Amino acid sequence: MAASEGTDVVIAGAGIAGLALALGLAQQGIKVALIEASAEPTTPALDSDLTAWDSRVSALTPSSSAWLAKRGVWQEMAHYRLGPYTDMLVWDGSGTGRIAFSAESLEVPLLGHIVENRVTVYALLKCVQQQANIRVYWEDKLEAADFSQPDLVSMDTQQGLCLSAGLLVGADGARSRTRDLAGLDIRAWSYHQHAIVATVRLTQEHQKTCYQAFLNTGPLALLPLSDPLLCSIVWSLDDPHWESLQNMDDRDFMAQLNRVLPSNMPSVEAIGRRGIFPLRQCHAVDYVRQGVALVGDAAHSIHPLAGQGINLGLKDVSVLVEELGRAWQQGTSLGSESTLRRYQRRRKTDNLLMMSAMEAFKRGFGSTHPAIRVARNMGLSWTDAATPLKNWLARQALT
Ligand SMILES: Cc1cc2nc3c(=O)[nH]c(=O)nc-3n(C[C@H](O)[C@H](O)[C@H](O)COP(=O)(O)OP(=O)(O)OC[C@H]3O[C@@H](n4cnc5c(N)ncnc54)[C@H](O)[C@@H]3O)c2cc1C
Repeated sequence: MAASEGTDVVIAGAGIAGLALALGLAQQGIKVALIEASAEPTTPALDSDLTAWDSRVSALTPSSSAWLAKRGVWQEMAHYRLGPYTDMLVWDGSGTGRIAFSAESLEVPLLGHIVENRVTVYALLKCVQQQANIRVYWEDKLEAADFSQPDLVSMDTQQGLCLSAGLLVGADGARSRTRDLAGLDIRAWSYHQHAIVATVRLTQEHQKTCYQAFLNTGPLALLPLSDPLLCSIVWSLDDPHWESLQNMDDRDFMAQLNRVLPSNMPSVEAIGRRGIFPLRQCHAVDYVRQGVALVGDAAHSIHPLAGQGINLGLKDVSVLVEELGRAWQQGTSLGSESTLRRYQRRRKTDNLLMMSAMEAFKRGFGSTHPAIRVARNMGLSWTDAATPLKNWLARQALT
């Protein structure tokens, strides 16, 4: 039997949440081992060609960028491509309701940034590599865990590595192996939608505006990239509508896309590679038990329509770093259930609120009932006219 390698915390998954957590903990002197199923990421290409852009992007809120800046990650990301946005236009595709938000009316410099996921991951990795107390195991998977000993979790990986630590954190995404091994239950359901993502070139500049349409078949977002003519699209489509669209050639797909964009918006003239993601809501009933905690999509995955998934994940990371940092200073066991429960209490309500709001949006805008359509059109236009309410709503999205 191989000898077990001891560390303070093992994190399964080196996506954005896992890397951010490793960095936050290591900066407090905690020793971390990260296990990641994929290969080590390479330097992001910066070619202007449409196919050279990552079709997976995230809208990062100012509080996410502030957290990343505090740890030196944002400064690293700035070497690549960051797309600041200052305006947001949301409209109902089957009516006249619309609502517009602007940084100017909120008296803030911007509303957020659209960033390719690989840029965030690579910048985090650069910072992780500067920490002597983080070890990363690439192309390996957490496979088994034994929680029978007090204050010690023993783990095995697919490549035959044996690790032990006071705490195992699952940052291993929506289909978390950690969650299954720890027996943490979930509430999950499919949205019966898939999201088609791609980079597109517009006929006119996007003016740093995020466009979001609520169509009968699901929401469509155009997210402005750092190049003034490029946007990343996230088109969520009900089953089975996505299948016929995904099977279309680029010309027909763009024709469909231009058909649903209003005439006063720039149209789409070129498109890169298309990717497709099934959408489902998933929430762990408990994020923790003695010796285990979940962060990011392992704890909760939500509809991309509000672009909040990784922002919630980074908030989880921020709170867990704080709670574990305090336990570390006090010499308390990192896997202690009372420490981990404090993390859960501080994060679960916030995540639940966002998930419920997304569900209400999804259902309200998914309905074709005439009364609901009239109400949502009036609601959007009325909210647009009611400046204090509109600004309050916008401020919720900034944090
Ligand atoms: C179409 C779409 C658009 C989105 N847009 C936005 C947006 O605008 N803004 C936003 O905030 N969010 C957005 N999201 C959500 C966001 O992408 C996710 O919330 C985020 O990527 C989750 O990050 P994570 O690190 O928690 O998990 P993941 O990114 O899923 O990372 C998990 C990692 O764990 C690894 N792994 C899995 N199993 C194992 C194992 N057994 N052992 C070791 N490693 C393992 C995987 O290889 C992976 O690297 C969007 C999602 C979709 C689908």
